[in-house]
This record gives sequence, C-alpha cells and structure tokens, in this order.
Amino acid sequence: MGNGALAELRTLLGNDSVLSADADTETYLIDQLRNYRGRALAVVLPRSTEQVVAIVGWCREHRVAIVPQGGNTGYCGGATPDESGRELVLALQRMNRVRAVSAADFSMTVEAGCVLARVQQAAAEAGRFFPLSLGSQGSCQIGGNLATNAGGVNVLRYGMTRDLVLGVEAVLPDGSIYNGLSALRKDNTGYNLGSLLIGSEGTLAVITAATLKLWPQMRSTATAFVAVTSAQAAIELLGMLRTQVGDRLNSFEYLPRSAVQLACEQFDSLQDPFESPYDSYLLIEISSAGLEDLDDLLQTALTSDSASELILDAVLATSERQRQAFWHLREKVPEAQRRAGGSLKYDVSVQVSQLPAFLAQVSEWVTANVPDGFLVCYGHAGDGNLHCNISQRPDAPLAGFLAREPAIKRRVHDMVKEFGGSISAEHGIGQQKVEELERYASPVKLELMRRLKHTIDPLGIMNPGKVLRS
Ligand SMILES: Cc1cc2nc3c(=O)[nH]c(=O)nc-3n(C[C@H](O)[C@H](O)[C@H](O)COP(=O)(O)OP(=O)(O)OC[C@H]3O[C@@H](n4cnc5c(N)ncnc54)[C@H](O)[C@@H]3O)c2cc1C
Repeated sequence: MGNGALAELRTLLGNDSVLSADADTETYLIDQLRNYRGRALAVVLPRSTEQVVAIVGWCREHRVAIVPQGGNTGYCGGATPDESGRELVLALQRMNRVRAVSAADFSMTVEAGCVLARVQQAAAEAGRFFPLSLGSQGSCQIGGNLATNAGGVNVLRYGMTRDLVLGVEAVLPDGSIYNGLSALRKDNTGYNLGSLLIGSEGTLAVITAATLKLWPQMRSTATAFVAVTSAQAAIELLGMLRTQVGDRLNSFEYLPRSAVQLACEQFDSLQDPFESPYDSYLLIEISSAGLEDLDDLLQTALTSDSASELILDAVLATSERQRQAFWHLREKVPEAQRRAGGSLKYDVSVQVSQLPAFLAQVSEWVTANVPDGFLVCYGHAGDGNLHCNISQRPDAPLAGFLAREPAIKRRVHDMVKEFGGSISAEHGIGQQKVEELERYASPVKLELMRRLKHTIDPLGIMNPGKVLRS
C-alpha cells in the first residue's frame, strides 16, 4: 500500500480524520483491558454516514479490511486490528449526535458513536428512560452495544440490546446504506435485517445509527443487599420475588463471598454491608414509573415467611448514597480481580433453574483441580449469566497459574455445554472465542453463519477473523 492511497483517504475525509502516526493511533490499537494489541494502516474518524460510505468504497478498491471500533471496552478483542498493519480501524467517536428524541413515540435516534451514558442522559432529559446499563457506560458507545448485543444489569426486565432497538442504519460492505431507522413498533415486512446486524461484532456492516425504544422514567426505586443461605435459595427467592413484585424487578445480581471480600480488600472506599461474612449475596433492585412505596413492597416480600427461610440477613438502601455504595461493590469486582493478580474469565450462561447445580459443579472442580486459584463466580443471576472467573491465589506464582488456562477453559466450557448453556452470554466472540464457537456451535449454525457472511461481505473486508475464521 503506497502513501498515495492514504493521501486519497485524507482528501476524502480531511487530514485530521486520518491518523497514522504511532503516537496518535496507539490507544486505538490496544483494548481498554490491555488484553489485545494490533497494528493498523491508519485510524479513520468519520463525521457522517456519507464519510463512512467513502471509507468503505476506498477499502473495497484497495482491498483493505475494516475494523469498526466504538468505545473499545469489549472483552473479546473484536475492535482490535490484527498484527499485519494492513487493516484500517474505523472509530465512530465523532458520529455522536442525538438525531431525534420523540417522547410521544417513546423512541430516540442516535448516532453509533454516542456514548451510552449520553444516550441515557438524553432520554432522561426528555422524561424517558433507556434501560441499557453496563459498568462501562461512561466509555462504551451505542454502536458497540448493538454490535455486541450487550446485556448488563437490567436484562431481566428489559432484555438484551436487541430487545431495545427499533431500527438500524448501517453501511454495508458494498458501500450501500441500509436505512432501517424507524419508530414503528410493528413491521412484519420480511426478514428483520437490523436484528441480523445486532450482535454481528462488525463482521457484516458498520452500524452508523439506531432508533431505540424508550420507557417511562422511573420515579420509585428500592434496592437491597441480601445474604442468602445458598445459590439454590437465591433462585427460589428470584421466583418468589418475580411473582410478588411483578415486572418491577430490574436487577438480581449474585455475588459469592470471594467477590465481596476481594472488592472490599482492594478498594478502601468499599464496605461490606454486613458485620458477619456470608457465603452468598444478592443485589436486588426494583423500580416503578409510578410513585409507590417500593421500600415497603420489597421489605414485605423479603420478610414473608417463605422468604425468611432463604435469607440470612438483608439491608435496604435508605439513601441514594447507600444504593450507589451497593452498586459500586458489585461493579468493582472485575477491577478488584485485576488489581489482585492474574484472573481467568469465562462469561457463560445456563438456564436460571440450573444455575445452583452448575455453580456447585464448577466450584467442586476448581477446588479439586486449581490449587493456585479460587473461584469468583458472580453476575446477572436473574438471567442465568455468570462471570465464572478464577483468580490467582496471592501466594501462587502467576506463570504457573496462567499456564493452566487451556485446561481450565476446556473444563468450564465443557461443563457449560453439558448444562445446555452458552459459552458467551453477553460479551460476544471477537477474536477470543473463534475456536470455541467452532467447537461448540452446531455445524448447521456455523455453515449458515458462513454463508450469510459471504453473501453480505463477499470480499471479506469486514473485521476478518472475528467471530468466524477468515
Ligand atoms: C467495566 C466493564 C463492564 C462491562 N460490563 C458489561 C456488561 O455488564 N454487559 C455486557 O454485555 N458487556 C459489558 N462489558 C463489555 C463491553 O462494554 C460491551 O461489550 C460493549 O457493548 C462494547 O461497546 P464498545 O462501544 O466499547 O465496543 P468496542 O469494544 O469498541 O467493539 C466491540 C465490537 O463491536 C464492533 N463495533 C463497535 N462499534 C461498531 C459499529 N458502530 N458498527 C459495527 N461494529 C461495531 C467492534 O468491531 C467489536 O467487534 C463491560 C466492559 C467493561 C470494561
């Protein structure tokens, strides 16, 4: 690739939209968690859908692969280019306009580069609520959320990102614009192409905008930190709460003692909500658009005779500050793991009812087979989604612990398969799990995915090597 081709790109986009000096591209070539690093021909920063069309046209002509990048917070290396130095990173950060908010339609249309926290804020300014909520919401972008079909802490009530989207605008690898933006709630006119792009991790198209569903703003919230007798008790309590508080139940997060202890040890600002340690905890949140006494509702539900048998201790947040403190404890677990040393992470799901048995089996296996590590298996229990992580013991050598990764991964993923679960519940495949997908997905599914990829992207220029082997 000669300098002339890059000069062409500069003429198309303007000099300040094509970065090629090492100092300028550095942060785009490594993911936020510093697990993946690549090289790139350049990083381009388009300002509009038309500029994305121009970039895709240039890439087709020069047979250059495109790596779309949002907030770069993904866990699977999907937004990191390979090491060839021949790929182009297309970062959407400048396409960050809120195009429209329609309070009447309970919808909003935003550009892909809008940071999730800004989307939530724009909805709130219109008296509406956008429920997608992740620990990375200050950095991740709505385009990245669509591309990964992100989950988060409100999936139990509102579903994954796919359930929150009415329409998608995207630039396809042939340079055409697919304009599916629409606030229509019902539209059964053929295949749902927007839905196909959601979760495609940049391998089918560059998502440039989306029309999102909004909900009434929540006016009442109640949050509790609860110690339960076991994971089985947690799932029984979930069923009980769902029948008692109905769809007010937003979040039902599970934390074992190991997670709470690690977070409190690593961050002075965090406090164990209880004086005594317990094996299993839940962070439960309910909310309502109406003005209701939800503290009373949650307290009544948690103190009912049948709930009392499952609960060892519980504390209701009496202020917004205390509520935030509960959530910080939950959200700081991944960072606490990082600070404490090496960790191996598996984002898996099983059917909710199978969660206690799965947890028991993983725990038994780790205790017996990973003497230099301990289990920190926590997460969105209401959806059966656990971040099944194993942390290095402080006194164990890191190299030996990390060397066990292939065997640990195989056993954890095999167990997930035996339980009929998923080896990637909410983080996607990226470059991290391509072989795992090949191993565990059905041949029919894989073949259909390959055919779809080839039909939409026959030149293979969209994020090659991610999700599917190129
Ligand atoms: C602290 C922390 C907490 C997290 N919590 C959660 C959680 O609870 N639930 C969850 O699901 N995830 C979570 N994540 C993971 C991550 O934030 C999500 O996967 C998020 O959706 C990624 O968005 P992004 O904008 O950072 O995308 P990136 O990391 O930039 O990209 C992710 C993938 O999407 C593609 N992509 C990005 N933008 C576009 C676009 N416009 N068009 C086409 N393809 C695109 C990329 O090529 C890549 O394959 C967390 C991450 C961190 C660091």
